[in-house]
Amino acid sequence: MEHVRDVSALPKAHLHLHFTGSMRPATLLELADKYGVRLPETLTEALTSGEPPKLRATDERGWFRFQRLYDAARSCLREPEDIRRLVREAAEEDVKDGSGWLEIQVDPTSYAPRLGGLIPALEIILDAVDGAVRETGLGMRVLVAANRMKHPLDARTLARLAVRYRDRGVVGFGLSNDERRGMARDFDRAFAIARDGGLLSAPHGGELTGPSSVRDCLDDLHAHRVGHGVRAAEDPRLLKRLAERGVTCEVCPTSNVALGVYAKAEDVPLRTLYDAGVPMALGADDPLLFGSRLAAQYELARHHHGFTDEELAELARQSVRGSAAPEQTKAELLAGVDAWLGGPVA
Ligand SMILES: [Zn+2]
Repeated sequence: MEHVRDVSALPKAHLHLHFTGSMRPATLLELADKYGVRLPETLTEALTSGEPPKLRATDERGWFRFQRLYDAARSCLREPEDIRRLVREAAEEDVKDGSGWLEIQVDPTSYAPRLGGLIPALEIILDAVDGAVRETGLGMRVLVAANRMKHPLDARTLARLAVRYRDRGVVGFGLSNDERRGMARDFDRAFAIARDGGLLSAPHGGELTGPSSVRDCLDDLHAHRVGHGVRAAEDPRLLKRLAERGVTCEVCPTSNVALGVYAKAEDVPLRTLYDAGVPMALGADDPLLFGSRLAAQYELARHHHGFTDEELAELARQSVRGSAAPEQTKAELLAGVDAWLGGPVA
C-alpha cells in the first residue's frame, strides 16, 4: 500500500479547537462526578461509546440541542484547577497527534461567573496555557471568541480585553455560535478593535449557512482566517478570492458530519477547496462531542478523499502557514513536514 506514513507523526498546527470541546471524555465524567452534575443522557452515551450524538444542527432545534450539551459540559469547569487540567490535557492530546502549535478558542465570558469575573477568568486560562507550554513543549496560544448570540457591545468589550492580553498569549479574535443569528457586520467594530490591536481576525462562517456568510467574514470582518468556511465550495468565485488572498479555512470534517452539514465524510468538499488553492487547516472543533481529534482529520482526508502523503504534507504546511506561530516555529514545523515526507514508509 502506498499511503502508510503515520499522520500522527506529521508536524502540523491546530487552529480550530474550542475550549470545553477539547476536554477528554473521561475528564468530563470525573468532573461531573466531583460536582454532582447530572449530564444529559445523550451526552453520557456519546462519552462512553465514543459515538457522536446525532444532532442535525443544520436545523435550529438541533443546534440548540448541541448548545445544551455543550453548556452541560461547560458547567463542570468550576475551579482554576479544572481549567489547568483541561488545558494541559488538550496540549497532551495535540502533541500525541503531531501538533506543534495549538490555538485554542475561548469565550472567557462563559467561565467568568465561577472564576471571579472576566479578567480573572482570562488570566487563569492564559496562566494554564503557559503551564501547559512548559510541561508539554507544545507551542500554544489563545483565540478569544465572542458569541454572536450576545450583544455586539459585549464583543467590543471582549475585543479590548483580548488586545490588552496580546503579550500574554492572545493571538486572535473569533466569533462563534449560530451563524443564522445576527449579521457579521454587527460585530465589525469589535473586529476592527481586534485587528488594530494586532490580533488575527478569525470568525466562524460558511458552516451552517452558505457562501454569503464567508463573504461577510471577508467584507465586514476582514477575516485573515475563516472558522470552517467549507460552504465556500458552493461558489467558485469565492473560492478564487479565498485562494488569491490566502485566507485559510479552518476545516473540521468530523464536526461537519456530526452536525449534519454534510451527510458523510466523502461529502465534505476537501478536494474542491484544495484544488481551488484555498489554504486549509484541518481541525477537530469539539472532539469531546464528536469523538475524534486532530490526526483523525488527516486520516479522513486520506481515506475518504484519497489525499496522498505529499498532499497531506501540503495540508500540514498550510495549517502552519495559517497560524500565528512565530517565524522560527513555523520554519521548524515546515522542516519537520519535509522530514516526515523524506522519512520511512512503514
Ligand atoms: Zn468552531
